[in-house]
Amino acid sequence: MATGFDVIVIGLGGMGSATVYQLAQRGQRVLGLEQFTPPHNRGSSHGKSRIIRQAYFEHPSYVPLVLRAYQLWQQIEQETNQKILFLTGGLMIGPPKSTTVSGSQRSAQKHGLDYEILDAQQIHARFPLLHPDPSAIALFEAKAGFVRPEAAICAHLQRAAQLGAALHFEEPVLSWCATDQGVQVTTAKTTYEAARLVIAPGAWATQLLKLDIPFVVERQVLYWFEPLRHRELFDCTHLPIYIWETGDGVQFYGFPADAGSEGVKIAFFRAGEVCTPETIDRTVYPHEIETMRRYLDQHIPDLNGQLLSTATCMYTNVPDEHFVIGLHPAYPNVTVASPCSGHGFKFASVVGEILADLAINGHTHHPLELFKPDRFGQNTNLPANS
Ligand SMILES: Cc1cc2nc3c(=O)[nH]c(=O)nc-3n(C[C@H](O)[C@H](O)[C@H](O)COP(=O)(O)OP(=O)(O)OC[C@H]3O[C@@H](n4cnc5c(N)ncnc54)[C@H](O)[C@@H]3O)c2cc1C
Repeated sequence: MATGFDVIVIGLGGMGSATVYQLAQRGQRVLGLEQFTPPHNRGSSHGKSRIIRQAYFEHPSYVPLVLRAYQLWQQIEQETNQKILFLTGGLMIGPPKSTTVSGSQRSAQKHGLDYEILDAQQIHARFPLLHPDPSAIALFEAKAGFVRPEAAICAHLQRAAQLGAALHFEEPVLSWCATDQGVQVTTAKTTYEAARLVIAPGAWATQLLKLDIPFVVERQVLYWFEPLRHRELFDCTHLPIYIWETGDGVQFYGFPADAGSEGVKIAFFRAGEVCTPETIDRTVYPHEIETMRRYLDQHIPDLNGQLLSTATCMYTNVPDEHFVIGLHPAYPNVTVASPCSGHGFKFASVVGEILADLAINGHTHHPLELFKPDRFGQNTNLPANS
C-alpha cells in the first residue's frame, strides 16, 4: 500500500491535468493516475482545437468562469512558454431567436461584454467564405478563439511534475473507496491511500463516479477538409471560429485553417450516436461525410474540397447539458467532475482551480449552483459499499 499523498486525482485528461497542476502549485502532495499515456485520442480531449468564447449562449452563469479560465490559460502559457490560447474572433450565427444568437447576446449584455450584431449581408461582406440564409444574423465577439487541448494537457502535466506531483500513466484505476479517515484507490498495480480524492474520468463517468446520474456518452465526428478555392481566406486573419445554427435547428461549428492541423476543421455540435468508451465506432461512414458536405455546400461552399482526415471523440452529456462539479454527495472527501456535455474544454484551466479548492478546502468562491451533482433526483447517493 502506497501512502503519503494529500490528494489522488483519477484521470489526467483536460480536467485532471489542470487539477494536478493546481494542487501541486499549492504545495499538496499529489498522485495523478491515468489509464493511458496523455494526451491520447481515446477520450474527449483530442482533435487539436477547442472553441473558447465569452458570450456564453448556454447560460450567463458561465461567463465569470470563462473569464477566469482565460487568465489561467495565459498563466500556464507563461509558465511553460507554450502557446495554448489563440484569439481569432468568433461568430455565433443563426436565426435571430435561436439560442446560439439570442443566448449569446443575453450573456454579453448581462456581463457587459463587447460584441457586434451583423445581418446576413454584413456577415458575408466581412467573411466572404460564409453564405448565411438571408434571415440569419450573427453575434461577433473579438475575444473568442480556440485552445489547443493536447498542448494544454501537456503543459499542465509538465508543470505539475516540475512542482513535485507523481504522475502515473498506463495505470488504470479499478476501484476506490472512502471513509472518514481517507480514501483508498486500487489500480492494476497496487493500492494507494490519501486524505482526499478527485475523480475526473471523462467518458468513464458512469463506471467511476458512483453517482446515479443519467450520463449519456455520445460519439462525435471531426472533419478536416481541403478548401476548394480561396485557401488564403481560411486563415485566422480572415476567418474566425464560428458556431452556426441553421434554420432546421442543426448546429455545426468550425475553425480557421491554422488550428493545428492540415486542412480546415468542421464538425456538427451534438449530433452523434449513443456509445460507451468500449463500444464507440471509430469508422466514419460515407453517409456521414455526405451529410457534412450538404451543409458545406449550402453555407461554406469553398470548403467542400477533398476530405483530408477525420477523428471520433466522445461527449459525456447530462440531461440539462450543464456540468457536474462538486463534492460527492455521499463522500465529502471525494470531489467529482464531469464538465462536458460537449462544451467543457475551454473551462479546464478554471475547473482545475475549482477542483483543487474543493479538494483542499471543501468549498470554492466560484459559482457552482448549475453544476450540483445531486440535482438529478432522489437516488444520487449510492450506498457506501457500492
Ligand atoms: C468532438 C468534441 C468537440 C468538442 N469541442 C469543444 C469545444 O469546441 N469547446 C469546448 O470548450 N469543449 C469542447 N468539447 C468538450 C471538451 O472537450 C470536454 O468537455 C473535455 O475534453 C472533457 O475533459 P475531461 O477531462 O472530462 O475528459 P478527458 O479529457 O477524456 O479525460 C478523462 C481521463 O480520465 C481517464 N480515465 C478514465 N477512467 C480511468 C480509470 N479507470 N483509470 C485511470 N484513468 C481513467 C481517461 O483515460 C481520460 O484520460 C468537445 C468535445 C468533443 C468530444
